[in-house]
Order: sequence, then structure tokens, then C-alpha cells
Amino acid sequence: MTNFELIQKFSGVDCVELLARALSGESLGLNEGVELLKSNDLNLMGAAADALRKQSAGDLVTFVVDRNINYTNICSSKCKFCAFYREPGAEDAYVLTIEEIVSKIDEAVRLGATQILIQGGLNPEISIEYYEEMLRTVKNRFNVQMHAFSPPEIVHISKLYGAGIKETISRLHDAGLDSIPGGGAEILDDRVRGYVSPNKIGWKQWRDVMLAAHSLDIPTTATMVFGHVETLEERIKHIIRIREMQEKYHGFTAFIPWSFQSENTQLSGASTGVDYLKMVAVSRILLNGYIRNIQASWVTQGLSVAQIALVFGANDLGGTMIEENVVRAAGVAFHSKNIEDFIHIAKKLGRPVAKRDTLYNVLDRF
Ligand code: SF4
Repeated sequence: MTNFELIQKFSGVDCVELLARALSGESLGLNEGVELLKSNDLNLMGAAADALRKQSAGDLVTFVVDRNINYTNICSSKCKFCAFYREPGAEDAYVLTIEEIVSKIDEAVRLGATQILIQGGLNPEISIEYYEEMLRTVKNRFNVQMHAFSPPEIVHISKLYGAGIKETISRLHDAGLDSIPGGGAEILDDRVRGYVSPNKIGWKQWRDVMLAAHSLDIPTTATMVFGHVETLEERIKHIIRIREMQEKYHGFTAFIPWSFQSENTQLSGASTGVDYLKMVAVSRILLNGYIRNIQASWVTQGLSVAQIALVFGANDLGGTMIEENVVRAAGVAFHSKNIEDFIHIAKKLGRPVAKRDTLYNVLDRF
């Protein structure tokens, strides 16, 4: 059945024309994206996103074996949606030593990890030498990809170092930084950011870090945290801004929409499974032709919803996340997964599945 026949089969519902245009290769804009989010034609949207996923990423479901290490929880940003940060001097405030980080990576490598995701708070007491020593030590001792320091951290480090963003990224890259995670994007709109994270970088600085990295041939991911104070227009504006950045260097390897987790934070919000699946489908539809990989978030939605996301436009399950403190602090109960869990849910969909590296190169097929 062709894509158009698929659409015609469901004709009579309100987003048919928009989906037909997307399936014919058209890039939908702001108003069209909002219209899709307002629509309740969930099955149809999912079917269209799934067809686009098949065209651009194929049937293979991928995942990476990784460990998430949060080197410090001391942070000057105090974002309202964050349950992880601590004030300096708090009883449970910490900074990991390089040896503690090495020992965690040693454990992860024994479990098959190829990627180490390193993120932490904006701690004014850590010098640039700490970051460089961490990268150098790890790269000298292990064959892992260092996916480290989201844009707010890069800007923070650049201020400590007294250098521009590009120079800071270059210096970290020389020490062993391989790629940059897309954290800190939340919603790329300064009205939303001014409310949820007033002390954090604005959306244009997030963009500047990503474009500086891409111009140096350093790949990054892009994320979105939705389901708090943003409007539907602001969600779509976020995706369109990502799309515009991608036109410049094509440096984003994946887009990762996360639903907001509110427990222990100053904000309320409770994204439903339907809201999440719609967001995954609309991400695939709007980013089609721009970003190949859309990640399903088992961390915030659980494996069952992540499995459904794989037929709503997602093609990747992200990492096994041997350790994840930030989302756990906000009350989410879905902790690290075995690769058998990922293989099981993909195979139950009749899809091939593979372990990949950070750059989406296939390492092992199952
Ligand atoms: S989200 Fe990140 S930047 Fe914001 S308070 Fe938490 S650790 Fe700090």
C-alpha cells in the first residue's frame, strides 16, 4: 500500500491533507505543526510518522550501551524543573574525583559500554583543568566515546576559562571530547526559559554552542523537554529552530523529545502517553529530511510506551543508561535497562535490532 493509499484509507479525518503533504516530501511549517498537535487523529499521525521513519531510517531499531555520569550536583542555575541540583555546602552536595569517574567507567566498560554521557551542574568551583584531566584520563585508559557537557556547561566552562565558545570546545575536543549532548535545550524560546530556568543560557546561546561544535565537525544531539509551561506554538517553534540550525552543518545526529517529570521540582506538569506519542510523531513528520534519528524515551515513559513510540516515528531507544541521577531525582522509576529488554521489545514488533555507537554505526546485530 502506498503512503497516499494509506492516508486515503483513513480519509475523512481532519489532518489528512497535512499528512499527505508531509508524506509527499513537503516541510510543514509552524501553523501546520500546531494543527497536528491539536488534532486527535493519533492513529493516523502515527501511521504517517511510521511511514516516514521507514523511508528515512529503515526498520532497524538501535540502542547504545552507555553510562550516564553526573560529576557534580552543585549548580548555580537553580532551574525550577530540576530536582537534582544542590547548593554548595548542602549535606548531599558532591563533586566526583577523577578516580571515582574512572572507576565508574571501568564498571561500565566491563558491561559493554561504548559511550559515556557526562553531564553535571554549573559548579563555579571547578576549573577547566578538571574537565580536561577527566577527558584525557578517560581517553588514555578506555576505548569509549565521550559524549559530554551540554551547552549550558560549555558556556559555563568558557566563562571560567575566559575564552570564546569555539575556543573552549576546541580545547575540550583536544583533551578527548567526542560529541556534545543536546541537554539544556528545554524549549528553545526565551519566554519559556525566562520562567523555568531564568539563570540559564538563552536559546540563542544554545544555538551558538551547537553551531560552533558542528563547524568544528563535532556532532551533537538535540533534545526537547515538553509538558510544563510551554504552548503548542512554542513546541513547534523549537522544532523549526532545530531544523534551521541543521540546515547549516547537518551536525545533529538525533532528536530526543522528553516529557517533563515534575516530582520534587517547583513546576507542575504531567504529560500523558498520548501527548508523548503525538510529540514523537510530529517530531518525525517535521524533521523528516533534516534529522535521521528520533529517540524513544523509555527513561520518562517506560519500555511499553517506548515500544509504541517505535511505530510512531522513533527508530532508536537511546542508551541503556547504567546510571541516571537527574531524571531519577524527579521521581521517575524507570532505571537502567539490560540490552535484553531492548532486544525483546524490538523483536516483538518484528523489527531487527542492533547495538550502535554514539555516531549510529552498527556494532552488533541481534
Ligand atoms: S537542570 Fe542542570 S543547569 Fe538546571 S539546575 Fe539542574 S543541574 Fe543546574
